[in-house]
Amino acid sequence: MLIVQKFGGSSLADANKITNVAKRVAETYRQGNQIVVVLSAQGDTTDKLLEKAREINPNPSKRELDMLLSTGEQQSIALISMALQGLGLSCVSFTGPQVGIHTSSTYGSARIRSIDTERVNNELERNNIVIVAGFQGVNRFGDITTLGRGGSDTTAVALAAVLQADLCEIYTDVEGVYTADPRVVKNAHKIDVISYDEMLDLASLGAKVLATRSVEMAKKYRVQLVVRSSMSNAEGTLVKEDVKVESTYVSGLAIDKDVASISVMGIRNVPGMAYKIFSLLSKEKILVDIILQSIGRDKKKDISFTINIGDLPKAMELLKNNQDNLGFEDVTYDDKIAKISVVGAGMATHSGVASMLFEALYSARINIMMISTSEIKISVLIDERDTDAAANYVHEKFFAVPAR
Ligand code: ASP
Ligand code: MG
Repeated sequence: MLIVQKFGGSSLADANKITNVAKRVAETYRQGNQIVVVLSAQGDTTDKLLEKAREINPNPSKRELDMLLSTGEQQSIALISMALQGLGLSCVSFTGPQVGIHTSSTYGSARIRSIDTERVNNELERNNIVIVAGFQGVNRFGDITTLGRGGSDTTAVALAAVLQADLCEIYTDVEGVYTADPRVVKNAHKIDVISYDEMLDLASLGAKVLATRSVEMAKKYRVQLVVRSSMSNAEGTLVKEDVKVESTYVSGLAIDKDVASISVMGIRNVPGMAYKIFSLLSKEKILVDIILQSIGRDKKKDISFTINIGDLPKAMELLKNNQDNLGFEDVTYDDKIAKISVVGAGMATHSGVASMLFEALYSARINIMMISTSEIKISVLIDERDTDAAANYVHEKFFAVPAR
C-alpha cells in the first residue's frame, strides 16, 4: 500500500517523541508499504517564531513571515530523517518547494494549485521513505509560501490525492475526532466513523482536529482519511463519504471562542443598506457568519453579525470610516462571546434537534444571543463565560448514551 502519514507538532515535541514517530514509520515501512511522511513544526515552534517576529517588528511583511514560519517544518523533516537513518532505513527529506508544491501567491494563506509527483515517485520507486515538510509551498515568483495555520493537514491530503495513496493517516495527540473537545466536555467520546460533510462542518465551526481545507480536499478527491493517536495503537476515526445515520442524528459539537459580533444600529430602512455594509467587508476578505436583522425605533433597522475575532479591528475601522456615507447611527462590538454548534447529517430528517439544543441551554439558564441553522447544523451564540457549562449540558443532552 502507499500510505501518507502526517504527524502534528505535539507528536514531534521532543527527541523522544521524534524517535517514537520514526519507529512507527519504520514499522509501517517494514510491513511492505511505501510511505510519504508529512510533518508539522515541533511543539509550539510556529507560535514561538511568530512571537520572535513580533518582537522585532509588530507588523512584518507576509512574505518574510512565511520565510520564517516555514523553517519550523524544515527542522522537523531533517530530524525525522536522521532518526530513520539511525534505525537503518533509507529516506530523503524535501521542503515544499523541493517537491514542487505550487501555490497561489497569497503569503500566509496560500492555496495549493498543483504538485509535481515525479520526484516523490522516483524516490518511492527506489524504496526510499519520502519525508515532506507540511504547511508550505512555492508561488509563481519562486518564493516560499505557507498554507495557513494547521496547513500540514492540507499538505498531507493533497499529496495523498495526487499520489493516489491508499490511505492518509493524520497522527495527533488525541485518539481521533471526538463528539466535543475532550478538554472542555468530560464525557466526550471518540467518533469511529464520520462523513466528509459532517467533518467539514465540525472543522469549520471550530473543532481544531483537522484543518478545514484538508477536509474539503479529502472530500473532493475521495481520500481515505484516518485521524489517530501517535501515542497509542487505538483505531482512530475514519472520515469517509457516506455514513449510515440510523442510530444517531447528531455526530458532534463544535466550540468556537474566536468569534466576535458587531452591531450596526439605526440603519435607514431602505433597499441596499445590507448590500453596502457587507460588500464593504467582503472587499477586505472578511468572512461574515451569522447575520441577524431587526427592526428598531423610528422605522430604522439594526443589523448584527459575527466574524472571526482576528478581523474585528479591521471591520470596526471600516464601518466607522464609512458611518457618514452609509448613514447609520452607531456601531458596537462584543468580543466576549462564543459559538456552540451541533452537527449531524441525520438532522435533515429528524425534527426537534433545535428544541433539544434550546432546552439544554435553558436548563443551564444560559441566554442565547443569536441562532443560525443549516441542513446539518445549528449554531448558537452565547456569552463566552457560559462556554464550558453550555458545551457540557448540550453534550449531555445529545450524547448521554453513546450513540455510535
Ligand atoms: N506548523 C503550522 C502551524 O502550527 C502548520 C501545522 O502545524 O499544520 O499552524
Ligand atoms: Mg493541526
